[in-house]
Amino acid sequence: GRGAGSGGRLLAHLELAGYLPEDITHVFLTHGHPDHIGGLVDGEGRPVFAKAEHLMGRVDLEFWLQNPSPAVQRALVPLKERIRPVEDGEEILPGVRAVASFGHTPGHMSLEATSEGKGFFIFGDAAGHYLLSLRFPQAYLGFDMDKAQVVRTRARLFQKVSEERSLITAYHFPWPAVGYIRREGEGYAFVPAFFEF
Ligand SMILES: [Zn+2]
Repeated sequence: GRGAGSGGRLLAHLELAGYLPEDITHVFLTHGHPDHIGGLVDGEGRPVFAKAEHLMGRVDLEFWLQNPSPAVQRALVPLKERIRPVEDGEEILPGVRAVASFGHTPGHMSLEATSEGKGFFIFGDAAGHYLLSLRFPQAYLGFDMDKAQVVRTRARLFQKVSEERSLITAYHFPWPAVGYIRREGEGYAFVPAFFEF
């Protein structure tokens, strides 16, 4: 959820989708920025998704616990005993594995799901901006913590998902935020797709 760790409308939207907090079995945190860790604990610091396994890339988890922002203090620190650190390439669910995409934060992790030979790549914030970062893969954003590393990460991942023709999502891309990345000139372009039922 957006905002400084509040969770925003997360629970209301989950309920509209037909899920209660106790239905959630896995919570995967791509990185420790405030807009990606909110809503995990209630006002007393108790886990909102009490039955879920919480997972986060080991490098990012260690970084944020050693350098806690106010949002990390509020949302991650109370959960730290519950969060299972994940390594690059680890399969966290059948057909779903974590992929290191360091640079936006020191240990940012993306997810790759594979089903019946088709890939779905969940960038988190590793893809950057849907126009600028694709057209100019050598550029970086102010939010990117390690600029040189994020450029290498994007070059590797954009090449991978465009060659493999994987469906992708990236958390700050505009609606529908799901589509494909294809080569275009010196860079890439985002081709939005609509949900297939
Ligand atoms: Zn971020």
